[in-house]
Amino acid sequence: LKEESYERIQQKIERISIETSSRITVILDDGEVVGDTEVKLDQLENHRNRAEIIQAFEGNIGVEKRFSVSAKREMLYVAIPVTDQDQIFAVVRISYGIEFINDFLRNYRQVFFTGLLLSLAIASLISIRVSHSLTVPIKEISNDLEEIAKGDLDKEVTTLANNELADLAMNINYMKDTIKEKISEADEEKNRLENIISTMASAVIFLDEKGRIIMLNNLAESMLGLSLPLVKNKLVYEVLRNYAIVDYADQCVTQERLIEEEIMITSQGQEMYVKASFAPVYKEGNISGVTILLTNLTEEIKLSKLKSDFVANASHELRTPLTSVKGYTETLLHGAMDDKELREKFIKIIDLEADRLIALVEDLMNLSKIESEKNIVQKEIVDLKRIVSSVYDSFSHLAAEKDITITVTMEKDHSYFVWGHEERLKQVLVNFIDNAIKYTPEKGAVAIVISDKNEMIQLEVFDTGIGINEDETERVFERFYRVDKSRNKKSGGFGLGLSIAKNIIESLGGTIGVESEPGKGSKFWVLLKKAK
Ligand code: ADP
Repeated sequence: LKEESYERIQQKIERISIETSSRITVILDDGEVVGDTEVKLDQLENHRNRAEIIQAFEGNIGVEKRFSVSAKREMLYVAIPVTDQDQIFAVVRISYGIEFINDFLRNYRQVFFTGLLLSLAIASLISIRVSHSLTVPIKEISNDLEEIAKGDLDKEVTTLANNELADLAMNINYMKDTIKEKISEADEEKNRLENIISTMASAVIFLDEKGRIIMLNNLAESMLGLSLPLVKNKLVYEVLRNYAIVDYADQCVTQERLIEEEIMITSQGQEMYVKASFAPVYKEGNISGVTILLTNLTEEIKLSKLKSDFVANASHELRTPLTSVKGYTETLLHGAMDDKELREKFIKIIDLEADRLIALVEDLMNLSKIESEKNIVQKEIVDLKRIVSSVYDSFSHLAAEKDITITVTMEKDHSYFVWGHEERLKQVLVNFIDNAIKYTPEKGAVAIVISDKNEMIQLEVFDTGIGINEDETERVFERFYRVDKSRNKKSGGFGLGLSIAKNIIESLGGTIGVESEPGKGSKFWVLLKKAK
């Protein structure tokens, strides 16, 4: 342009015009057209006042749409300034017929929308495939999870997917295994607790905060005469007719404190002393129920009574011979000593009383030894035949004195071995035979019989003595029990022999008993485990 070689410009713009199907016009700053691809230059007027040209000479990109008189159609003009050192000295304008642009836009739209539709179709196809590949394994996992949730913890979550969903399934299985393990641990713990509770020596009752029975152990059922299936979830005051228990349970909940009291309950028609404790149970900081523990004290009270009775009886028994000794020694000291006959008589009595004292103390010591060794006695194999023959020998003299015959019956050539303790079993037999001779009148008979009773061996001592009333047969095994105190004074018994025998037999795991008919005789027996 600077060189004013408009010919070359004309060629150049014509080439571009063909390539772009457009009309190109070059206008100098005075409005003279120096190049145009559609209209001859001489037919063109000055273009300086064309709107787009004015805009371009102002330094902008001029855009105009109007009817072209020279091209005779609607045209879109775009003009851009041509500068040299910031000086606009010409404008190049490119113009298209509107229909061309419309055609172009139509084509463009068609391509655009076809492309859009195509890509939409492809995208939805892809998304269907992807979602299918996700939903199928999710469905599989969800089905497996449903079964696990229903309680089948052996169910494994499986999936054919090998992406993140496979990891998810693996993690779910891991979590399920951990839960299963925890549940089985909790189950074990629960069983252990239930075992402890059911075998406890106390009655246990669990109530909720409203006073409904949740659980009872076996002992509570029998102690309170309740059956768990019948009273479960029932209010305690509706099923238990014991005001003390109901009231203390109520106090325990309302006052939230541990209560320990001794109360009396009636169980199966019998009064029972129990130590009752009521402990509040908490769940997440709030009171959720009461645990009631009932411990039967009746036996303990009985035992302590038995102990104090024993001390009283023992002291009484000791006191009698001691008083007698004291009486005779005083009489001797006060002059009887000088009378030879009296002196001898009294000293003999004192000697006899001393023997009685020694015998009593020995019995007491024996009793306490057997009691203290009750649980630690070492059982050995004992030959009953040998015991019988040695005891028989030691009593033959005493029996002969009263003209009483002693016979021994057992199978010949048969051995009678039992699990026991030689010395103690001998003592039992001694006590039986001693009593049999003591309580059998002259010319009577005593029989010792040994026999097999399945897994046991029975040893019986019969006599033809005075016998024992039926209501007293069980009591003869009690300490210091004598059927007829005055009668026995003469015979010199303390009422300890049979209780020692009972203790010995029970400590050896055997049983002892008596059958008797007053005036006819008695049979004392023991059963001991056979030693093979
Ligand atoms: P004791 O030393 O008084 O004989 P035991 O404990 O051996 O004490 O006996 C308790 C009581 O049982 C005796 O006092 C006696 O009344 C009664 N008894 C024991 N054995 C016989 C028997 N074989 N016949 C009749 N009564 C007996």
